[in-house]
Amino acid sequence: MLLYLPDITESERQLVVDELLTGETLNNGSTLRNYELTLSHYRAGETISLTFAGQFAVESACDRCGVPVEVSVEVKEQYILFPEQSSPDMDYVYSGDAIELGPFVREAIVLNIPQKILCDEECKGLCPVCGRNRNDVDCGCMNNG
Ligand SMILES: [Zn+2]
Ligand SMILES: [Zn+2]
Repeated sequence: MLLYLPDITESERQLVVDELLTGETLNNGSTLRNYELTLSHYRAGETISLTFAGQFAVESACDRCGVPVEVSVEVKEQYILFPEQSSPDMDYVYSGDAIELGPFVREAIVLNIPQKILCDEECKGLCPVCGRNRNDVDCGCMNNG
């Protein structure tokens, strides 16, 4: 998905992000289920501001018991982009006549995936003795010392 530079004006504009990322596996093994993100963009001289806001859902394995869980997450990430020719050392730069939004969308999502995903705050996890899911069965191993 490209954002063309002439479309970025000094007054803020918004567009709905429709980059096709749903179903992608992200870096920590989470799968993106769906997302609704709005991009607000404007320029101040040569500097361009991109703000992604909205929410997404990821499916991931519960950190304790391994059962798949889906969590929804709020996002608000702003990126300030500089022209590459005058500021090549900045983290975010643009050149040419358009900005490829895919990498920004992906990063805004990845940055907001929770470090710890649990099926339930009270999840009892797997039994370290017999390996069974202690939410489903009371195997009793832990009670017998
Ligand atoms: Zn769990
Ligand atoms: Zn057990």
